[in-house]
Amino acid sequence: MSITENLKSISEELASFPKVKLIAVTKTKPIEILLEAYQAGLREFGENKVQEMLPKYEALPKDIHWHLIGHLQTNKVKYIAPFVYMIHSVDSLKLLQEIDKQGKKSNKIINCLLQIYIATEESKFGLDEQELTELLENQDFKMLKNIKIKGVMGMATNTENTELISQEFGNLKNIFEKIRQQYQGENIDFQEISMGMSGDYSLAIEQGSTMVRIGSKIFGSR
Ligand SMILES: *Cc1c(COP(=O)(O)O)cnc(C)c1O
Repeated sequence: MSITENLKSISEELASFPKVKLIAVTKTKPIEILLEAYQAGLREFGENKVQEMLPKYEALPKDIHWHLIGHLQTNKVKYIAPFVYMIHSVDSLKLLQEIDKQGKKSNKIINCLLQIYIATEESKFGLDEQELTELLENQDFKMLKNIKIKGVMGMATNTENTELISQEFGNLKNIFEKIRQQYQGENIDFQEISMGMSGDYSLAIEQGSTMVRIGSKIFGSR
């Protein structure tokens, strides 16, 4: 199957869910492949590494929305701040403060998602529920003006156990709803739940995902 054909079948599937946006995860793929996806109509691209996103941003049309989906180090924020559309992987106040600082330099407000730890595996990044509420209640957080918290992101356990995956996604949806009701502020605008990848996006959509991050199902295995 070609990229265009893969995209067509995924888009048909997603058409029944108007709230769900497709983020095409293009990590490790060369620029020609991204161009093909662009020509097929895609504008939302996800990369997990700053050093890979930069040359792709420079080479490709400027109406692409770039989503940083992988772990982000504080010292790399400055490279992507001028153009990044959304950072899905924010997991500390320190990182948010740096994003805010660089957003101010670029005279923009940077969209962020807070990455929540929902899996039962040890290796995944993210905040637990208590760390999340501590962050949102922190006075230093409330002062940040050049970031906007648009919602949450999470990754389920890498398992065949669909019941467990659904439970983890359902948990993220519950956290999202709780936060949306309890926390308001100038820099909070809770809209998005980024959950679901090639292997589990159908389960994520069932549980209320608004952004699915799909790589291998569009571009083939890496
Ligand atoms: C690689 C990656 C994806 C996409 O994974 P696929 O299984 O190829 O769809 C989604 N989210 C994150 C954070 C990733 O690093």
